[in-house]
Formats: sequence, C-alpha cells, structure tokens
Amino acid sequence: NALSQHAQDHLATLLEGFGLTATTLLSNWVDGGLVAGEGDVITLTNPATGETLVSYRDAGAGLIKRATQAAQRGQREWMALTASERGRRMNAAIRGLAGHEEALAQLESVVAGKPIRDCRAEVGKVREMFEYYAGWCDKQHGEVIPVPTSHLNYVRHVPYGVVGQITPWNAPMFTCAWQLAPAIAAGNGVVLKPSELTPFSSVVIAKLLESGGLPKGLINIVNGLGKSTGAALTDHPAISKLVFVGSPQSGRMIAEAGARRLVPSVLELGGKSANIVFADAKLDEAVAGAQAAIFAAAGQSCVAGSRLLIERPVFEQVTSRLARAAEQISVGLPNDEATRMGPLQNHRQFEQVTRMIDAAVAAGATLLTGGKRPEGLPTEAQGYFIAPTVLVDVTPDMEIAQQEVFGPVLVAMAFDNENQAIQLANETRFGLAGAVWSQDVARAHRVAGQLRAGTVWINSYKAISVMSPFGGFGDSGFGRSSGLDGLREYTVPQSVWVETAPEASVAFGYGSGV
Ligand code: NAD
Repeated sequence: NALSQHAQDHLATLLEGFGLTATTLLSNWVDGGLVAGEGDVITLTNPATGETLVSYRDAGAGLIKRATQAAQRGQREWMALTASERGRRMNAAIRGLAGHEEALAQLESVVAGKPIRDCRAEVGKVREMFEYYAGWCDKQHGEVIPVPTSHLNYVRHVPYGVVGQITPWNAPMFTCAWQLAPAIAAGNGVVLKPSELTPFSSVVIAKLLESGGLPKGLINIVNGLGKSTGAALTDHPAISKLVFVGSPQSGRMIAEAGARRLVPSVLELGGKSANIVFADAKLDEAVAGAQAAIFAAAGQSCVAGSRLLIERPVFEQVTSRLARAAEQISVGLPNDEATRMGPLQNHRQFEQVTRMIDAAVAAGATLLTGGKRPEGLPTEAQGYFIAPTVLVDVTPDMEIAQQEVFGPVLVAMAFDNENQAIQLANETRFGLAGAVWSQDVARAHRVAGQLRAGTVWINSYKAISVMSPFGGFGDSGFGRSSGLDGLREYTVPQSVWVETAPEASVAFGYGSGV
C-alpha cells in the first residue's frame, strides 16, 4: 500500500545517505568499514503497516571473527593513547553525529515504529552517554591499600580487552550508546550485536563516531539473529566479557554461554514494575505518572510501570481517571509529529500482547479501556497497533500480573495497608523498578526501602540518568549499567605488590602480618 511504499522509499533514501546501500545492504560496521552480511536473508516488516520494509543478510560467524580481530587491534591502538587523549577523542567522536541527528531519528522511527519525537529524544541520550563517560577516561585512578607488611600495594582498574554486547529492539540507539560509551571509556574494544529487528541505527552511530576520531576497529557492529550471529559472538574466544540487554529467556542463554567459557556477564533484563499509589498522594500527579509509566513507548520499556497498586479508598477514582486519560493519548503513525504512541515493534510482540490480554479477560479480568486496535487510524495502517489498555479485577496470581507484557497494558490492583502494598509489589520474580506516590515523606522512604527493585522513584516515574546506577534483582538480571558502577563492569581490579623493605624477604607460606 501507499504508506508502506512511502516508508520503504524514505528508508532507502536514509540508508543511501548513510552509505549503506549496495546490491546487498551493508548492514555491519567492521574494522572501520561497512560490510554486507554473509548469512541468510532477514526481512524486516514495517511496524505501522505490517508489510515488508527491507531485507539484509545475517552477518554470520565469519564476520564475527573479523570483527573481534579488528576490536583487538583497535583496543591496542586505543590504550596506546594517554587517558586524557581518550577522553578528548570520545568528546570529538560524539561531534561526528552533528548534522545527522534528524536522519538518525527518522531511520529509527521507520524501522522501530517509534514516534519521531521519541526518536529525537533518544539521539540526545546518545550524546549524553558519550559526554558523561568521556569525562571518566582520565579519572579512573586506582587505590593504594594500606597492607600490613613492608609492601606498597596498589590497585589498577584494567580493561577486559574485547567485550561482546547484545541489545534489544525497544531502544536501539539508547542501549547501544549506553553500553558502548562505558566500554570504551574503560579501555575496551567492542563487538556489539543489535537486535535483528532494528539493525541499522547502531551501525550508523558507530560509523559516525569513528568519523569523529575513534580508532579504526575499536567499535564493531554485527547484525543477525541471536541463534547465529549472537551465538557466534558469545562463543568467540576473544570475547572476555558479555553485556546483554534483553529478555530473561535470552539472558539465561547468554549467561550459560559465558559460563561455559568462564566469561562473566552483565544481564539487563525485563521487569514487572509496581507503581504504588497511596490515598494521600497528589492524585493528579500520580495519574499522570502512572500514564507515562506504562504508555510511553507503547509499554515497550523495561521499566514500564505495568502494575498499578492503588490504596482501596481511591481505587475507583484513580482507575477511572486513568482510563479516561488513556483514551486521550494520540495513537498514530510513527512519522506523525502529533503521535505520542505508535505501534508495537513486531508481529511476535503484537501476538504476545493480544494473547495475554485475551487470557487475562478469560481468567476474570475486566477491560476498563483498550484491548483492541485503536480507532481513527488510516485504513492502510494495518500494523501492530493496540490501544492503551487498563485491566481491573486482576488477582496477583494471574499471568497478566506476573509476566512482562511489553505492551501498553496496565493491570490495577487494590491494597488495604502499607504492608500489603509492599508484599504485592515484591510478589514477582522481577525486580527492575518501582515507584511510591505519597505525601507522607516517612512512609514514602520506608516503602521505597523495602522494594526489591534496582531503581525506585518517589512521586516520580522514569527519571533516569547515565550518572546513576541501573539494573535489576531476580529475573531482571544482575550487574549494573550507568554511573561509576556501569564503568566498573568493564574493568577488572589488578592488585600490584612492591617490596619496600631494605632487604626483600620472600615469605615461605603466609608472610607475617598479612
Ligand atoms: P530478546 O531477548 O528477544 O533479544 C535481545 C537480543 O538478544 C537480540 O539482539 C537477540 O538477537 C539476542 N539473542 C537472542 N537469543 C540469543 C542467543 N541465544 N545468543 C545470543 N544472542 C541472542 O529481547 P527483545 O525482545 O529484543 O527485547 C525485549 C526485552 O528486553 C524485554 O524483556 C525488555 O524488558 C528487555 N529490556 C531490558 C532493558 C534493561 O535495561 N533492563 C532495557 C531494554 C529492554
């Protein structure tokens, strides 16, 4: 149809502008050059229309080998520079994006199906991450440890060498920069595999960064399926740390692949975050916060506030106001400036969300709003749209209250007291984020402190910064990203001992005083 054709043409122009066009799309960035994949053909679908968008070839194991070798060379060159020079180069690299921001946002919007205004904001995040971690390059000093012997003992934070990163489709540019920036600031080379569903933006970012002054081969992007290119990456002997952002199911496979080679991993996985509203909260703000928490990015956000726990006296009021607010969200085509919520990204996700809503209703939940295709869309937009959905009459044991939906679906449950709120909030296998809405300062902190979640907001939701550590408990994963904690995931402490006594005495067994 005409919408699909327009998107295809627009994407073709954007890819050509970034130099990716050839007989087979140049869908990888390896050793400082754009390269076509060598494996099976992967065909992408337009999320807004459900029709074919573009095809490219899976990278395959051969390209992984080239990419890791390039990363080893790039890393050596990178570490031969002074720390201050690395910081300067990172800041210069981000300037490589200048003038390309709008085209990058457009590219992401077409392929990921995300509203264009969200994609522009995401490009801004790429800049923030690089600027923040550029500042760390020359500030990663070690420590001197006051060991009780005639030795000087100091600790250096040394890079792993080459790290492997794997990212999902919901925020491809964000997650790419989120992990690339600390990895190189810590002195590593990188091979990153984006989701096969959103392959191009990371390639373009890496290319632009290198044009801004990073060493050739320091960053490599390879595109393909998890089971082929992804598995080749996790299994490659040159990769000495794995950082994964995605679902718990895949995360388990990544951690297992790492464990087989005794390679550590960081897992940033899904969530089922609780948003707790007490009756004494400022309800206007709580409703606005709850709405943004679940419906931004059509709920395809790891920190989505997908469980709204409301103190019983205000349950009806909050849910009905929320349902009305949900009906006001402008759901539309990704390239429309007025669109606040676009389609889901792919067919599998659409099927999953639809199935989970149907199962919830079959189990006794009631739809307050949504649960179907939104009204008012152009007839050609036969893609993966689902209206903002609010479900009540949900019990904590239902699948919809336990499993991540990763769509614009909110379940609301009532609680009667603080302890019950905490218990309900912690009653899932996940532990990524959560929020508390209350004007009682003591209670807000008390409850926040008892939530088993890596990030907790008080009278806020989704405030997020590259400066502050982020990560999960339980099935939401382990390890941290962002801030100094995120940087430290990319280094290993090395303890160095120097004899300082006039005459060295090497202890046979434990030395005295140690
Ligand atoms: P996914 O697990 O299906 O895929 C993520 C990545 O893993 C893709 O690049 C995929 O190709 C790759 N992969 C899959 N199997 C693999 C294997 N065996 N070996 C190597 N690579 C493999 O996840 P998705 O559907 O793309 O993303 C959605 C999920 O990501 C949600 O659960 C969401 O909550 C989570 N997420 C988490 C965070 C966070 O920071 N915690 C951020 C964004 C998304």
